[in-house]
Amino acid sequence: MNNKTIILTGDRPTGPLHLGHYVGSLRQRAILQHDYQQFILVADLQGLTDNGSTPQKIRDNIPEVLADYLAAGIDPSLTTICLQSALPALAELTALYMNIVTVARVERNPTVKNEIAQKGFARSLPVGFLVYPISQAADITAFKAEVVPVGDDQLPMIEQTNEIVHKMNSLLPVPVLSHCKALLSETSRLPGIDGNAKMSKSLGNTLLLSASEKAIHHAVSAMYTDPNHLKVSDPGQIDGNMVFTYLDAFHPDKAKVAEMKAHYQRGGLGDRACKNELEMCLQELIAPMRERRATYIQDKGMLMAMLKTGSEQAHEVTQQTLREVKQGLGLPVF
Ligand code: ATP
Ligand code: MG
Repeated sequence: MNNKTIILTGDRPTGPLHLGHYVGSLRQRAILQHDYQQFILVADLQGLTDNGSTPQKIRDNIPEVLADYLAAGIDPSLTTICLQSALPALAELTALYMNIVTVARVERNPTVKNEIAQKGFARSLPVGFLVYPISQAADITAFKAEVVPVGDDQLPMIEQTNEIVHKMNSLLPVPVLSHCKALLSETSRLPGIDGNAKMSKSLGNTLLLSASEKAIHHAVSAMYTDPNHLKVSDPGQIDGNMVFTYLDAFHPDKAKVAEMKAHYQRGGLGDRACKNELEMCLQELIAPMRERRATYIQDKGMLMAMLKTGSEQAHEVTQQTLREVKQGLGLPVF
């Protein structure tokens, strides 16, 4: 084991990955893997917390997510990719942490609250879903991760994780767990193509890393602009204008986007021209990922073998943390 700072991030295998993942986290991971010791967790158990009756959905999406990682430039020789359900230490740490977190605290988590309302759970809320932030704290701390590159919906999870770290360490003769910090990207929350505040698999408003040329064209054509920008010569609004939000997130030439914004605001730049520019840049970004991904997804055996190797490495690391916590609590470790 080297002494590089440790990163843990992950994704729920609830569907193929989308542009929100790309700008919120994936793009950073591909860069960070060169300087950090990076673990990526395919969070199948967390995926099951709101898909308990459809486990095949989670199972089927594991290779999809793995193909997305490789397509986005995650290199398994630099990053350890592992599976949550293959790491029993994560479940055991979750069980230990559940005793030091109150029901009131889990109910207060704003992201979970929002998701519960969105999914319309009411009294059918699965217990596992309510407590998934505790399990996520187990994931992060089992790896002793200090840096977590995530979208901003995850900030409450990091806060809750650090509370658990503080409480658990205070119960141990010597601190075992590491505090962590979120690493937000420039676009920490990409809106959905429908204009919803977050692009999300569950909301069905995504553009996938595997999106076809046609899907990209349709998504951009249907995007909201400024509803009061009726004639090309009218001055237009860029606030809340999805086309500019996406240009900011994806266009490699920031000076060009700034120029377009100024032109649009003073009038004379049409929505069609802006959409053409956006479509061109998304087609260019997605095409090579789509092609690489199409090759990887044909070899599910290779993808799952990669996950097995990564999980075996992660098993060692996470078991060690569990052992240290148990020993610190005075539980017998056989
Ligand atoms: P689900 O709807 O099943 O929860 P999701 O689309 O929210 O799926 P997750 O697997 O929950 O995706 O999220 C994985 C990571 O990607 C997290 O770090 C999350 O913050 C980030 N992420 C997801 N969607 C976005 C987005 N629209 N903008 C920025 N980051 C995002
Ligand atoms: Mg999510």
